[in-house]
Amino acid sequence: MQLKDTSLFRQQAYIDGAWVGADGGQTISVTNPASGETLGTVPKMGAAETRRAIEAAERALPAWRDLTAKERSQKLRRWFELMMENQDDLGRLMTLEQGKPLAESKGEIAYAASFIEWFAEEAKRVYGDTIPGHQKDKRILVIKQPIGVTAAITPWNFPAAMITRKAGPALAAGCTMVLKPASQTPFSALALAELAERAGIPKGVFSVITGSAGDIGNELTANPTVRKISFTGSTEVGAKLMEQCAPGIKKVSLELGGNAPFLVFDDADLDEAVKGAMQSKYRNAGQTCVCVNRIYVQDGVYDAFAQKFQAAVEKLKVGNGLDEGVDIGPLIDDRAATKVREHIEDAVANGATVLTGGKAHERGGSYFEPTLMVNVPHSAKVAKEETFGPLAPLFRFKDEAEGIALANDTEFGLAAYFYSRDLGRVFRVAEAIEAGMIGINTGLISTEVAPFGGVKSSGLGREGSKYGIEDYLEIKYLCLSI
Ligand code: ADP
Repeated sequence: MQLKDTSLFRQQAYIDGAWVGADGGQTISVTNPASGETLGTVPKMGAAETRRAIEAAERALPAWRDLTAKERSQKLRRWFELMMENQDDLGRLMTLEQGKPLAESKGEIAYAASFIEWFAEEAKRVYGDTIPGHQKDKRILVIKQPIGVTAAITPWNFPAAMITRKAGPALAAGCTMVLKPASQTPFSALALAELAERAGIPKGVFSVITGSAGDIGNELTANPTVRKISFTGSTEVGAKLMEQCAPGIKKVSLELGGNAPFLVFDDADLDEAVKGAMQSKYRNAGQTCVCVNRIYVQDGVYDAFAQKFQAAVEKLKVGNGLDEGVDIGPLIDDRAATKVREHIEDAVANGATVLTGGKAHERGGSYFEPTLMVNVPHSAKVAKEETFGPLAPLFRFKDEAEGIALANDTEFGLAAYFYSRDLGRVFRVAEAIEAGMIGINTGLISTEVAPFGGVKSSGLGREGSKYGIEDYLEIKYLCLSI
């Protein structure tokens, strides 16, 4: 594994400040997608261990909530610093279990740490309100308080950032949290728990349980002590969790699937558009929920854009994420590669042409060639479903109205992107597209300072920014008669 600090590699879960195995001793193995080798194991826990983590979070809550905001802030700040001090090791661990190129992993650690830093600052700025009374003798105050015990379930595509984006605001607000990371990438989560412990986050405030998603999810949603669940993952699982949370009227934040459109208008700067499309499409081998899924190019620039884009795609280097100069690592597993293949086959059967790539990579395993298709019909599967892989399909459109209609022709509404230099068009299109986030003349939009989240079937709530902490606070109104 070759970590400078080998104690960051933890193969036990972290409950109530202790490193523990599953009650029955069962484990699940974690595989390196680049080689198929087993990296290690983590406990296969279920309802009983989850209940204990929730009870610990409940016990830890009063003392954590009662610290001053500044005291919580200082501990979070230390956690942030420790993440940055261990960026190399954390990045390496991430590439080993997730597959993304090392530079991207280290970038994600900095991005993940930035949420802890940001919310360490925001902890001190949870302001209330005073409202002019409705009667002469009344004074009205609004205060904000932590929701209480919270839970998070996170995916494998961003093994660190999806955790800190939830744990940062939760802990800053004074909530405690039980986290279940994805079973493909638990080591990044456990390393974060190790650093949280070193940062002085008290036991029970942040626990990490690994194991059966169904059993753990059932307990987290059914247990009345948990007052809020934050989930990032598929729309299907998100809907199920929301349903499970309904009887207990638990708050839910959901960051779900996307199907991001990327529109290139006739007046766009094509070189910039190619750059943005490359960044948004092929980052993490196309496995991000804000990855461009559908590229719509206006008739007048279609061929020129396709040509420039093809040249850029052909430069991408596929390989083991630990090797120098690699742009695209393996996909997370074979199932992911199968989905990319299916989307290509479906589009080609319906008239699309593959300009470059199009098949499994010669390295084998779950490696897939970066692929570009042109003349893709609007009826193709890839127009409707998120591919989550290195496949870029180019569609044509005639005018602004058609571009907007095509962009909105989806149940999803997470991210959208477009390129245009016409100021009037920029506002018209940005306001008309149904998405929570719009990249205008840029393919990179993620930052801790801006609100991340979707509309329609892409989710509920916002993460990051000053809005992100609101998801972990309750509003209480005090009516005082004097
Ligand atoms: P993906 O397709 O990106 O793996 P999933 O929605 O399947 O997305 O997984 C995201 C997270 O949700 C993972 O941590 C996974 O283990 C968890 N998960 C999957 N199924 C369930 C479930 N039924 N209840 C709770 N969590 C689940």
